[in-house]
Amino acid sequence: MDCNPRSLLFILHLLMTCVIPAFPIIYPPNEVNLLDSKASQGELGWISYPSHGWEEISGVDEHYTPIRTFQVCNVMEYSQNNWLRTNWIPRRSAQKIYVELKFTLRDCNSIPLVLGTCKETFNLLYLETEDDEGSHFREHQFLKIDTIAADESFTQTDLGDRILKLNTEVREVGPMSKKGFYLAFQDVGACVALVSVRVYFKKCPYTVRNLASFPDTVPMDSQSLVEVKGSCVNHSKEEEPPRMYCSTEGEWLVPIGKCLCNPGYEERSSTCQTCRAGFYKSTLGNMECSKCPPHSFSHHEGSLHCSCEKNYFRAEGDPASMACTRPPSSPRNVISSINETSVILDWSWPEDSGGRKDITFTVLCKRCRGVVANGNNSGTQRCEPCRSNVRFLPRATGLHNTTVTVADLLAHTNYTFEIEAQNGVSLSAPKMRQYAAVTITTNQAAPSPVTVIRKEKTSRNSVSLTWQEPERPNGIILDYEIKYYEKEEQETSYTILRARGCNVTLNGLKPNTAYLLQIRARTAAGYGASSPSFQFETSPDSFSISSESSQVVLIAISSAVAIILLTVLLYVLIGRFCCRSKSKHPDEKRLHFGNGHLRLPGIRTYVDPHTYEDPSQAVHEFAKELDASCIAIDKVVGAGEFGEVCSGRLKLPSKKEICVAIKTLKGGYTDKQRRDFLAEASIMGQFDHPNIIRLEGVVTRSKPVMIVTEYMENGSLDSFLRKHDAQFTGIQLVGMLRGIASGMKYLSDMGYVHRDLAARNILVNSNLVCKVSDFGLSRVLEDDPEAAYTTRGGKIPIRWTAPEAIAYRKFTSASDAWSYGIVLWEVMSYGERPYWEMSNQDVIKAVDEGYRLPPPMDCPATLYQLMLDCWQKERNNRPKFEQIVSILDKLIRNPGSLKITANTTSRPANLLLDRSSAEVPSMGNMGDWMDAMRTLPCKEAFSGVSYSSCDTLAKTSTEDLKKVGVTVVGPQKKIVSSLKALDSHTKNGPVPV
Ligand code: AMP
Repeated sequence: MDCNPRSLLFILHLLMTCVIPAFPIIYPPNEVNLLDSKASQGELGWISYPSHGWEEISGVDEHYTPIRTFQVCNVMEYSQNNWLRTNWIPRRSAQKIYVELKFTLRDCNSIPLVLGTCKETFNLLYLETEDDEGSHFREHQFLKIDTIAADESFTQTDLGDRILKLNTEVREVGPMSKKGFYLAFQDVGACVALVSVRVYFKKCPYTVRNLASFPDTVPMDSQSLVEVKGSCVNHSKEEEPPRMYCSTEGEWLVPIGKCLCNPGYEERSSTCQTCRAGFYKSTLGNMECSKCPPHSFSHHEGSLHCSCEKNYFRAEGDPASMACTRPPSSPRNVISSINETSVILDWSWPEDSGGRKDITFTVLCKRCRGVVANGNNSGTQRCEPCRSNVRFLPRATGLHNTTVTVADLLAHTNYTFEIEAQNGVSLSAPKMRQYAAVTITTNQAAPSPVTVIRKEKTSRNSVSLTWQEPERPNGIILDYEIKYYEKEEQETSYTILRARGCNVTLNGLKPNTAYLLQIRARTAAGYGASSPSFQFETSPDSFSISSESSQVVLIAISSAVAIILLTVLLYVLIGRFCCRSKSKHPDEKRLHFGNGHLRLPGIRTYVDPHTYEDPSQAVHEFAKELDASCIAIDKVVGAGEFGEVCSGRLKLPSKKEICVAIKTLKGGYTDKQRRDFLAEASIMGQFDHPNIIRLEGVVTRSKPVMIVTEYMENGSLDSFLRKHDAQFTGIQLVGMLRGIASGMKYLSDMGYVHRDLAARNILVNSNLVCKVSDFGLSRVLEDDPEAAYTTRGGKIPIRWTAPEAIAYRKFTSASDAWSYGIVLWEVMSYGERPYWEMSNQDVIKAVDEGYRLPPPMDCPATLYQLMLDCWQKERNNRPKFEQIVSILDKLIRNPGSLKITANTTSRPANLLLDRSSAEVPSMGNMGDWMDAMRTLPCKEAFSGVSYSSCDTLAKTSTEDLKKVGVTVVGPQKKIVSSLKALDSHTKNGPVPV
């Protein structure tokens, strides 16, 4: 090998170019260079002393980028002291400096014929100064950092070649305090190539953690960490002050605290970015923006919340994440059950809750005067808010249940109730609020009891009393009944007096005796409840009345005589007047019509239009003549006996147009037909009750002759129920039944016997209010397709009619009650045909033998019991309509009682009668009923027939059954098929009899 130092340097240089890394150097981000010899492409201009020592050489790296290096290799000479000093390096903010040297160093053994003292190290030194001192250079001022030796100077390869290795050494210097410094490399006789010198300090680089930015930070030289406060990135807020520590190694440590993105912004790549359109963020935090909830939108970026679509709202306190909502639709199917002066309103939940759960109901009560037009509650009415003493139970507003009881209304008064469903946004949308209205007319009600009685004067034989009118008279008080008796005798004998005013003097009393007295008021609706017992004592025998008192007594007696005389006179006058009017109207008949009950004076009674010599007089007495031009016919809705039934509109002058039903009398009628047709109007016109179809008027003066009634939107009850099979709640069905019973009570109170009460003759309006219709006398039955001729020649709807009415035409309100029982069965079975396909003859026979219809499916036990009560053979044992109304009212008030069904429980407790002797079977369905039909008569019948095997049973035919007395077709078929089934089940065993 050539030992010339020059060639040696050349080799070094070659080697050097080989060992430079073949890729661009990327320094760690936390290192800041103060000097990088490789970055300089021109002469570095470092000072070399003496001049033949360190030599600056230009070369290229593997990318042919020029680099500057320094070499020294004076190993052939003695006493080497070669210095190489860098330019002045400003310290900047650094306290601790790192010096990275890359160099190659030849091992002295590899150099043959070394003359001098070959070294394998060189020294690294530094000098701090405040200024650049230029070329001024003094060796002794430099402080030594370290002696640098090669880690791996030479390595022997397998082939015996020597390869120069590049050494990298890093030394730390510091803390430094002056503005700048020089580095120096002292060679004392080594063969060194200084390939690169890099001087740097470390910093913690700018970073963003937890949405807080931390600036470039230069660590301290000491071991302690530098605490750095972060600042929140744009659009964020400090939750807890963000902090981090910068270590001496330029590393960030221990992040504490954080920032949160503002509302409308979400965190994306360590920044807070606006929410996109269609999204929102309403709170501070690093959660993502949320999609707008249903029925809301955000058209802009950075939305804090989404706006509601048109007609949708947010209630105060609704979270931004909740869908926008709207007011609920109106309550549905309002049913009113009137009980004298109170009404139970019952309705269904609105179809649309508006998307909210906070629904409550508010009931507004209005007292209305004027015409109530029809089920739609339109018509000319003047309404005012109800008096404040009307009571709502539980209350009128904020109701959570779909029922309310309104009490203390006035008797015989029209009221409209507006029921509104409200939710949390109803107040925001007053125009969208909807309510369901129901109009009712209260019934007559007896007066409330007299509560205040005062004793004015007492003597040995008499006492004078006064009292206050009842708090709620519910009508005009006709008189008071005063009942009194000796306390000792305990009501075994008592005296009754009547008084028109609020005072009475009782005479003829025993001296020194205690009496008890009760007073009750009477109106057209009857007697009210009695007052609590009032006790008084007469004066003792020895008691003598003062002269003043005797004067008063004298005055009282003379006044009484005068009053009696006046009363007698009035009575005679009124009597005469009445007699005259009686000759016009057959009032005698009115008093005794119907059940043979004596009608009470003061209560209106029904007048049979046939008692009028000229029936058209009756029509004009009870029905208003309408001008045909006020009526517009829309369409045909049904067919009646005398012509079509149409729907249409009636517009009377200065009244609101209302919907009406129009019955027409078809052309070519006889006089009798016309009379019979109009008889219905004469009857209907006498009634005024919310559950009786109301007559608007008649057209008799032009053709066609028409009867105009209120329009019932849902038509007849039987078809309505069949159309809505199983769609009503128990309480709704009971509400309908209650209406029918209330209408029937009114008719029976009026002395009118319907004779054809059946679901087909009940009409239903849009509020599910049921009204009794189809009035007439014999003609009704002619009209009814269900009516059949009986053996006695009359035409009767067999399945609906009580046995005594079929057998000997004994039609009474009690036979109407039987029919009501059948209607009850029809309603509870949703329009099923009573006795199914059995023939009329079979029905008559079965009923006569004691069989009754089975309970309809899921029929509440109480209702089935009521049916059975209505079907009592003994008509006096059947409930009166008043009792039926009261039973149904109790059920409505206690709907829980409807849950016990007749099919699942034993017989319910008797509601009306002692029925211990009743033998009516109770069965779950038609099959059970038929089974019972089979068992009861057949058990006895079969006892006379001998059969012992399955074969005999299987062969039992309808004929055989007829022989043993089972003549009803339904049961016969059922028995035969049951026996056949039984046979197949018990082929190999004995048959239970
Ligand atoms: P009628 O002759 O009374 O039995 O009536 C025959 C049919 O006409 C009934 O079954 C109903 O469908 C219809 N109808 C009678 N009156 C009315 C009314 N007031 N409103 C609506 N439909 C009625």
